[in-house]
Amino acid sequence: MKNMTCYDLHSHSTASDGSLEPSQLVARAIDKGVDVLALTDHDGTEGIAAAQQAAQGSDLRLIAGVEISVTWAKGTVHIVGLNIDPENDVLQQGLSSMRDFRVGRAEEMASRLEKAGISGALEGAKKYASEVMLGRLHFAKFLVEHGHAKDISDVFKRYLVRNKPGYVPGDWASLTDAVHWITAAGGQAVIAHPARYKMTATKRRRLITDFKDVGGVGFEVVSGRQHPEEVKALAKLAQQFELLASCGSDFHTPDNTWVELGDLAALPESCTPIWSVF
Ligand code: AMP
Ligand code: MN
Ligand code: MN
Ligand code: MN
Repeated sequence: MKNMTCYDLHSHSTASDGSLEPSQLVARAIDKGVDVLALTDHDGTEGIAAAQQAAQGSDLRLIAGVEISVTWAKGTVHIVGLNIDPENDVLQQGLSSMRDFRVGRAEEMASRLEKAGISGALEGAKKYASEVMLGRLHFAKFLVEHGHAKDISDVFKRYLVRNKPGYVPGDWASLTDAVHWITAAGGQAVIAHPARYKMTATKRRRLITDFKDVGGVGFEVVSGRQHPEEVKALAKLAQQFELLASCGSDFHTPDNTWVELGDLAALPESCTPIWSVF
Protein backbone atom coordinates (compact mmCIF):
# COMPACT_ATOMS: atom_id res chain seq x y z
CA MET A 1 0.00 0.00 0.00
CA LYS A 2 1.28 3.43 -0.86
CA ASN A 3 -0.25 6.68 0.21
CA MET A 4 2.61 9.14 0.62
CA THR A 5 4.82 10.71 -1.99
CA CYS A 6 8.22 9.05 -1.86
CA TYR A 7 11.10 11.54 -2.04
CA ASP A 8 14.72 10.53 -2.52
CA LEU A 9 16.77 13.69 -2.88
CA HIS A 10 20.34 12.34 -2.97
CA SER A 11 21.69 9.81 -5.47
CA HIS A 12 24.64 9.11 -7.76
CA SER A 13 25.13 7.85 -11.31
CA THR A 14 28.11 6.99 -13.49
CA ALA A 15 28.49 10.74 -14.05
CA SER A 16 30.29 10.65 -10.68
CA ASP A 17 31.01 7.57 -8.58
CA GLY A 18 27.72 5.69 -8.88
CA SER A 19 27.62 2.44 -10.80
CA LEU A 20 24.34 2.90 -12.71
CA GLU A 21 23.95 5.01 -15.84
CA PRO A 22 21.51 7.90 -15.28
CA SER A 23 18.79 6.08 -17.26
CA GLN A 24 19.32 2.87 -15.24
CA LEU A 25 19.16 4.86 -12.01
CA VAL A 26 15.84 6.40 -13.03
CA ALA A 27 14.46 3.00 -14.02
CA ARG A 28 15.48 1.54 -10.67
CA ALA A 29 13.95 4.49 -8.79
CA ILE A 30 10.65 3.95 -10.60
CA ASP A 31 10.82 0.25 -9.80
CA LYS A 32 11.42 1.03 -6.12
CA GLY A 33 8.40 3.35 -5.92
CA VAL A 34 10.25 6.68 -5.82
CA ASP A 35 8.04 9.58 -6.95
CA VAL A 36 10.59 12.39 -6.77
CA LEU A 37 14.27 11.66 -7.36
CA ALA A 38 17.19 14.09 -7.24
CA LEU A 39 20.32 13.14 -9.14
CA THR A 40 23.15 14.71 -7.14
CA ASP A 41 26.45 13.66 -8.65
CA HIS A 42 29.69 14.88 -7.07
CA ASP A 43 30.86 18.22 -8.45
CA GLY A 44 29.15 17.81 -11.84
CA THR A 45 25.83 17.82 -13.65
CA GLU A 46 26.69 15.74 -16.73
CA GLY A 47 24.18 13.00 -15.91
CA ILE A 48 21.15 15.23 -15.59
CA ALA A 49 20.09 15.50 -19.23
CA ALA A 50 20.04 11.72 -19.65
CA ALA A 51 18.20 11.26 -16.35
CA GLN A 52 15.60 13.84 -17.34
CA GLN A 53 15.13 12.13 -20.66
CA ALA A 54 14.68 8.77 -18.97
CA ALA A 55 12.09 10.24 -16.59
CA GLN A 56 10.07 11.75 -19.42
CA GLY A 57 6.77 10.01 -19.97
CA SER A 58 6.93 8.35 -16.55
CA ASP A 59 5.37 9.46 -13.27
CA LEU A 60 8.78 10.09 -11.75
CA ARG A 61 9.75 13.70 -11.24
CA LEU A 62 13.47 14.22 -11.69
CA ILE A 63 15.08 17.02 -9.71
CA ALA A 64 18.32 18.42 -11.12
CA GLY A 65 20.89 18.37 -8.34
CA VAL A 66 24.58 18.31 -7.49
CA GLU A 67 26.70 17.43 -4.45
CA ILE A 68 29.53 19.92 -4.03
CA SER A 69 32.68 19.07 -2.06
CA VAL A 70 33.56 21.82 0.41
CA THR A 71 36.55 22.46 2.63
CA TRP A 72 35.38 23.83 5.95
CA ALA A 73 37.41 24.05 9.18
CA LYS A 74 40.18 21.99 7.52
CA GLY A 75 37.81 19.12 6.81
CA THR A 76 35.55 18.06 3.94
CA VAL A 77 31.79 18.51 4.02
CA HIS A 78 29.28 17.97 1.23
CA ILE A 79 26.65 20.48 0.16
CA VAL A 80 23.76 19.29 -2.01
CA GLY A 81 22.09 21.69 -4.43
CA LEU A 82 18.51 20.89 -5.44
CA ASN A 83 16.51 22.31 -8.37
CA ILE A 84 19.55 23.86 -9.95
CA ASP A 85 19.69 25.07 -13.52
CA PRO A 86 22.53 22.94 -14.93
CA GLU A 87 23.09 25.53 -17.66
CA ASN A 88 23.93 28.30 -15.22
CA ASP A 89 27.34 29.86 -15.90
CA VAL A 90 28.25 30.70 -12.30
CA LEU A 91 27.57 27.12 -11.26
CA GLN A 92 29.39 25.59 -14.21
CA GLN A 93 32.45 27.78 -13.77
CA GLY A 94 32.63 26.75 -10.14
CA LEU A 95 32.22 23.08 -10.96
CA SER A 96 34.84 23.26 -13.66
CA SER A 97 37.40 24.53 -11.14
CA MET A 98 36.58 21.52 -8.96
CA ARG A 99 37.06 19.18 -11.88
CA ASP A 100 40.51 20.68 -12.48
CA PHE A 101 41.41 20.04 -8.87
CA ARG A 102 40.25 16.43 -9.19
CA VAL A 103 42.56 15.84 -12.17
CA GLY A 104 45.64 17.00 -10.25
CA ARG A 105 44.57 15.20 -7.10
CA ALA A 106 44.15 11.93 -8.98
CA GLU A 107 47.66 12.24 -10.40
CA GLU A 108 49.02 12.95 -6.94
CA MET A 109 47.11 10.01 -5.45
CA ALA A 110 48.58 7.72 -8.09
CA SER A 111 52.10 8.97 -7.46
CA ARG A 112 51.73 8.47 -3.71
CA LEU A 113 50.42 4.96 -4.26
CA GLU A 114 53.33 4.32 -6.61
CA LYS A 115 55.72 5.24 -3.79
CA ALA A 116 53.85 2.74 -1.61
CA GLY A 117 54.59 0.07 -4.20
CA ILE A 118 51.31 0.13 -6.13
CA SER A 119 51.73 1.03 -9.78
CA GLY A 120 49.18 1.77 -12.49
CA ALA A 121 46.60 3.24 -10.13
CA LEU A 122 45.67 6.22 -12.33
CA GLU A 123 44.99 4.10 -15.41
CA GLY A 124 43.35 1.48 -13.22
CA ALA A 125 41.01 3.95 -11.52
CA LYS A 126 40.08 5.54 -14.84
CA LYS A 127 38.72 2.21 -16.02
CA TYR A 128 35.97 2.56 -13.44
CA ALA A 129 35.22 6.23 -14.08
CA SER A 130 33.42 8.27 -16.68
CA GLU A 131 35.36 10.99 -18.45
CA VAL A 132 34.02 13.73 -16.26
CA MET A 133 34.84 12.80 -12.68
CA LEU A 134 37.58 10.78 -11.03
CA GLY A 135 37.23 10.16 -7.31
CA ARG A 136 38.46 8.07 -4.46
CA LEU A 137 35.82 5.38 -5.02
CA HIS A 138 37.29 4.69 -8.47
CA PHE A 139 40.74 4.24 -6.91
CA ALA A 140 39.16 2.05 -4.24
CA LYS A 141 37.69 -0.26 -6.87
CA PHE A 142 41.08 -0.57 -8.57
CA LEU A 143 42.80 -1.35 -5.26
CA VAL A 144 40.26 -4.02 -4.36
CA GLU A 145 40.48 -5.54 -7.84
CA HIS A 146 44.25 -5.86 -7.39
CA GLY A 147 43.96 -7.51 -4.01
CA HIS A 148 45.24 -4.65 -1.84
CA ALA A 149 42.23 -4.87 0.46
CA LYS A 150 39.29 -7.18 0.91
CA ASP A 151 36.53 -4.67 0.20
CA ILE A 152 35.74 -1.01 -0.41
CA SER A 153 35.38 -0.04 3.22
CA ASP A 154 38.67 -1.78 4.10
CA VAL A 155 40.50 -0.07 1.24
CA PHE A 156 39.37 3.38 2.40
CA LYS A 157 40.62 2.72 5.92
CA ARG A 158 43.98 1.45 4.76
CA TYR A 159 44.79 3.67 1.80
CA LEU A 160 42.48 6.59 1.12
CA VAL A 161 41.99 8.52 4.33
CA ARG A 162 44.20 10.95 6.23
CA ASN A 163 47.64 9.57 7.17
CA LYS A 164 47.33 6.69 4.70
CA PRO A 165 49.52 6.19 1.61
CA GLY A 166 47.03 7.22 -1.10
CA TYR A 167 45.50 10.20 0.67
CA VAL A 168 45.72 13.69 -0.77
CA PRO A 169 44.14 16.49 1.26
CA GLY A 170 41.14 18.10 -0.41
CA ASP A 171 41.26 21.72 -1.49
CA TRP A 172 37.62 22.07 -2.36
CA ALA A 173 35.19 24.98 -2.65
CA SER A 174 34.55 27.28 0.31
CA LEU A 175 31.16 27.02 2.00
CA THR A 176 30.35 30.51 0.74
CA ASP A 177 31.22 29.66 -2.86
CA ALA A 178 29.31 26.38 -2.92
CA VAL A 179 26.14 27.97 -1.58
CA HIS A 180 26.58 30.92 -3.92
CA TRP A 181 26.94 28.69 -7.01
CA ILE A 182 23.81 26.72 -6.05
CA THR A 183 21.78 29.82 -5.27
CA ALA A 184 22.95 31.57 -8.45
CA ALA A 185 21.66 28.55 -10.38
CA GLY A 186 18.24 28.96 -8.74
CA GLY A 187 18.64 26.02 -6.37
CA GLN A 188 18.34 25.28 -2.67
CA ALA A 189 21.51 24.42 -0.72
CA VAL A 190 21.33 21.70 1.95
CA ILE A 191 24.05 20.07 4.03
CA ALA A 192 24.45 16.43 3.04
CA HIS A 193 24.49 13.67 5.70
CA PRO A 194 25.36 15.95 8.66
CA ALA A 195 25.75 13.01 11.03
CA ARG A 196 28.46 11.38 8.95
CA TYR A 197 31.18 13.95 9.62
CA LYS A 198 33.42 13.22 12.52
CA MET A 199 32.49 16.36 14.44
CA THR A 200 31.53 17.24 17.96
CA ALA A 201 28.00 18.51 18.51
CA THR A 202 29.43 21.99 19.07
CA LYS A 203 31.30 21.95 15.80
CA ARG A 204 28.22 20.67 13.97
CA ARG A 205 26.24 23.62 15.30
CA ARG A 206 29.00 25.93 14.11
CA LEU A 207 28.83 24.39 10.63
CA ILE A 208 25.06 24.86 10.55
CA THR A 209 25.42 28.46 11.76
CA ASP A 210 28.04 29.29 9.13
CA PHE A 211 25.99 27.55 6.47
CA LYS A 212 22.83 29.44 7.32
CA ASP A 213 24.76 32.72 7.41
CA VAL A 214 25.82 32.28 3.79
CA GLY A 215 22.35 31.36 2.54
CA GLY A 216 21.95 27.62 3.13
CA VAL A 217 18.32 26.63 3.69
CA GLY A 218 18.34 23.11 5.09
CA PHE A 219 20.04 19.81 5.76
CA GLU A 220 19.40 16.12 5.41
CA VAL A 221 17.53 14.99 8.48
CA VAL A 222 17.17 11.53 6.98
CA SER A 223 20.12 10.06 5.09
CA GLY A 224 20.40 6.46 3.98
CA ARG A 225 20.15 3.96 6.79
CA GLN A 226 20.28 6.07 9.89
CA HIS A 227 19.66 5.36 13.54
CA PRO A 228 16.22 6.69 14.63
CA GLU A 229 17.86 8.55 17.52
CA GLU A 230 20.09 10.36 15.05
CA VAL A 231 17.08 11.36 12.97
CA LYS A 232 15.38 12.69 16.07
CA ALA A 233 18.42 14.74 17.07
CA LEU A 234 18.76 16.20 13.58
CA ALA A 235 15.06 17.02 13.43
CA LYS A 236 15.44 18.94 16.66
CA LEU A 237 18.41 20.86 15.26
CA ALA A 238 16.46 21.72 12.12
CA GLN A 239 13.68 23.13 14.25
CA GLN A 240 16.07 25.13 16.45
CA PHE A 241 17.85 26.62 13.47
CA GLU A 242 14.63 27.08 11.49
CA LEU A 243 16.03 25.14 8.58
CA LEU A 244 14.22 22.90 6.12
CA ALA A 245 14.57 19.13 6.23
CA SER A 246 15.67 17.02 3.29
CA CYS A 247 15.94 13.26 2.89
CA GLY A 248 18.00 11.14 0.54
CA SER A 249 19.47 7.68 0.31
CA ASP A 250 22.90 8.65 -1.10
CA PHE A 251 22.48 5.61 -3.31
CA HIS A 252 25.63 4.68 -5.27
CA THR A 253 25.22 1.06 -6.35
CA PRO A 254 22.91 -1.96 -6.17
CA ASP A 255 25.94 -3.88 -4.80
CA ASN A 256 25.49 -2.09 -1.50
CA THR A 257 22.49 -4.01 -0.24
CA TRP A 258 21.80 -1.88 2.82
CA VAL A 259 21.21 1.37 0.91
CA GLU A 260 18.35 1.39 -1.59
CA LEU A 261 16.64 4.12 -3.59
CA GLY A 262 13.58 5.43 -1.77
CA ASP A 263 14.18 3.23 1.28
CA LEU A 264 14.02 6.02 3.83
CA ALA A 265 12.39 6.76 7.15
CA ALA A 266 9.67 9.42 7.11
CA LEU A 267 10.67 12.91 8.22
CA PRO A 268 9.56 13.60 11.80
CA GLU A 269 6.37 15.65 12.15
CA SER A 270 8.23 18.66 13.52
CA CYS A 271 10.18 19.12 10.26
CA THR A 272 9.32 21.46 7.45
CA PRO A 273 10.21 19.45 4.35
CA ILE A 274 12.47 21.03 1.76
CA TRP A 275 9.82 20.26 -0.84
CA SER A 276 7.57 22.87 0.72
CA VAL A 277 9.65 25.36 -1.31
CA PHE A 278 9.87 23.30 -4.53
P1 AMP B 1 36.04 11.98 -3.26
O1 AMP B 1 34.96 13.01 -3.45
O2 AMP B 1 36.70 11.63 -4.55
O3 AMP B 1 37.01 12.34 -2.19
O4 AMP B 1 35.33 10.64 -2.84
C1 AMP B 1 34.33 10.64 -1.84
C2 AMP B 1 33.42 9.44 -2.08
O5 AMP B 1 34.10 8.26 -1.71
C3 AMP B 1 32.16 9.45 -1.25
O6 AMP B 1 31.13 10.13 -1.91
C4 AMP B 1 31.84 7.99 -1.18
O7 AMP B 1 31.16 7.59 -2.36
C5 AMP B 1 33.16 7.33 -1.18
N1 AMP B 1 33.61 6.98 0.18
C6 AMP B 1 34.25 7.75 1.07
N2 AMP B 1 34.54 7.06 2.20
C7 AMP B 1 34.07 5.82 2.00
C8 AMP B 1 34.07 4.62 2.78
N3 AMP B 1 34.61 4.56 3.99
N4 AMP B 1 33.48 3.52 2.23
C9 AMP B 1 32.95 3.56 1.01
N5 AMP B 1 32.92 4.66 0.23
C10 AMP B 1 33.48 5.77 0.72
MN1 MN C 1 30.32 9.15 -3.69
MN1 MN D 1 28.52 12.88 0.38
MN1 MN E 1 26.46 11.51 -2.05
